[in-house]
Parts: sequence; C-alpha cells; structure tokens
Amino acid sequence: MKPSSLYVHIPFCSSICAYCDFCKLLYRKEFAFPYVEELLKEVEGKAKGLSFHTIYVGGGTPTCLEDPLFEKVLAFLSPYLERNGEFTIEANPESLSKEKLLIAKRFGVNRISMGLESSSEKRLKEMGRGHTYEEAKKAFALAKEMGFSNLNADLIYGLPDETLEELDKDIDALLALDVPHLSTYSLTVNEGTLFYNKKIKEADDNDAADQYELILKRFREAGYLRYEVSNFARPGFESQHNLTYWHDEEYVGCGLGASGYQDEVHYTNTRNLTKYLKGEYLDSQEEEGEQDRLEYYFLTNLRLAEGFALEEFEKRFGFSFLAKYQKEVDSLIKDGLLLLEQKRVKPTDKGILLLDRILLTLFK
Ligand code: SF4
Repeated sequence: MKPSSLYVHIPFCSSICAYCDFCKLLYRKEFAFPYVEELLKEVEGKAKGLSFHTIYVGGGTPTCLEDPLFEKVLAFLSPYLERNGEFTIEANPESLSKEKLLIAKRFGVNRISMGLESSSEKRLKEMGRGHTYEEAKKAFALAKEMGFSNLNADLIYGLPDETLEELDKDIDALLALDVPHLSTYSLTVNEGTLFYNKKIKEADDNDAADQYELILKRFREAGYLRYEVSNFARPGFESQHNLTYWHDEEYVGCGLGASGYQDEVHYTNTRNLTKYLKGEYLDSQEEEGEQDRLEYYFLTNLRLAEGFALEEFEKRFGFSFLAKYQKEVDSLIKDGLLLLEQKRVKPTDKGILLLDRILLTLFK
C-alpha cells in the first residue's frame, strides 16, 4: 500500500490557547526559518518518488508564518499533489490575510480549515483565542470572496458552565457562516494547559451528550451529514484527507510532533525542536501485529457513518469479517449499535456514540 496523503506540521502560533494540547510553539522568526528548512528536507526524504491525493498543512497555525516562508512551504509541496487532489491549509482568522490567500491560491490550495471555536467574545477571551468573532466572520467572507468554497469551521462545546441556550447561539453563528464542512469538539482539559492549571473542569458526560445531541439535530436540520463522530459536511465536501486516517490508509507525516503510517509502521516525530532541527525526527514507532492492525482498522473505520465494506475488509485481512465475528455482530445488532447494510458494517447513531462498547465486544 503506497501512502496517498501527506501531513505537514507547522508548530508556530501567534498566541497560545488555554486549552491547547497540540504540538505548538509561540512564533519566533529565528526558529521559523531553520524549522522550515528542516521540514522541507524531511518532506523531500520521505516523499521521494511519491505523489499524493491529499496534502494537509496543519498546526499550530500555518498562516502565522511570514508571507515569504508561507509561500516557500506551499511552493515546495505543490508539485507533490496529484491532479484534482485536495490541498488543505489550517488557518486562524487573525492571520488569514488577502496576501496569504493569494499565495495559497497560486500554489493550488483548495480547502481551508479555520478555527471559529465560539461566537462569544467572552468565551474567545477565556480560551485565549487571538481573534474576535467579527474577525472570524470577516476571514471566512474574505476566503469566499477570493474563490475558496471548500471551507471548514471548528467549534468547541462543553465549555465551563456552558448552557444549551448558549450553545444554540453558537450553532446559529456557525451556520450563518454558510460553509460546507463543520467540525465540533467537546472541550478536553489536558495536563500542561492553562485550563488544567486553572482547574477548569470538563463538562460531565450527561451535559456533553445533551450538547452533542443538540449539535447533531441542528446540523442535520441544516442539511449537513454527520459522516464521522465530530465531522459534518454537505454532500461531496467530506475531508478527503481525514478520510485517509479513518479508512486506516497509509500517509506520510512530516514536522515537529507529526505522526505518520508507512510500510505498516505507525511513527511519531519528536516534539523537541532542538532535536528536530538536527534532523533527529523520529520519537517512536510501532510495528503492527495482526491484532493491532485489526484494532486500528475498527477504531478508525467505525468512527465513520458509512463504516466499512465486507469485501474491502476481506481483501485487506485475507478472511471474512462475518466468519470470524458473526456472534459479536449479532449481539451488537441486537443492542442497536451496529447495522449490516448493503454489504457494509456500519455503526448506528447510538453505536457512533458508544464506539468503545463496539470495540470491547469485538475484542473480548
Ligand atoms: S491556535 Fe490552535 S494550535 Fe495554536 S495554540 Fe490555539 S489551538 Fe493550539
């Protein structure tokens, strides 16, 4: 299996959000230049002889790079994209300028994913976001004006003491952006973040479930399909890049803290900038046995509403899914968690939320 996707990580941000657990650093010019040099070397080595169906430049905040550096990255990556491929950049509203959009357009970027996170100024401040809601609205409008139609907006829910009424307003604001792809994530409070230090609590399971239900209902009413647990799209606007992960296909990962999957090995790069700049990219890798391969396959594919095809499973693993798991499948169907439909194994609405139960049943 040849990797069909390339992920490239730009770890710099102009400010650090209070909840952020990603691999990120405060932007500093003296680090950004050598970082990009090293990053492009890594891409050159790992992507030699390959071309990609999707390229995703994530972060961090790729758009916080200065224009010449931003241009250098996109110009370098562009020739690796197959014809009609999907080329995504992540952006933050405060750094998505007209110049950045012109550069992106020139080098074939055709999808932009941007963090809105909330429509409330108070919440944006509390989260330490570097933009206001008005700025976010303007950034989406500017991207559209410049001809980008494949746009994603992120929303965080489950904020401290957030009520359903407050979330409802956020959903109104998100839908008003009129973009074809929406991602929503419940706030998680991880060690090492400002929220963790401030002892901010995550929403309890019942509140988070009610909030998720509201999101699902409102997005569906507005014509979005939930194609993955946290991702909603108008038909034809599903993220092709993220589908690579959820189909458990191989991809090349480059940059600080990036992970990849090549030659049946999952690897993660170092988060240590000093090591990275010396070309010591790798932090850890994990070769997969048959059981791991099965676990990854279910863990990823069953996040998708479309699940997986029985035929594709058999082609990949060399045995029939139903021959091995018929008893478990029967019990999951009885519990309303799984469906067998058109020769596909699909989680139900309930199953998507209770994926752990499905996995435990399949592996007990
Ligand atoms: S902009 Fe994104 S990557 Fe940067 S600190 Fe905020 S959440 Fe983290």
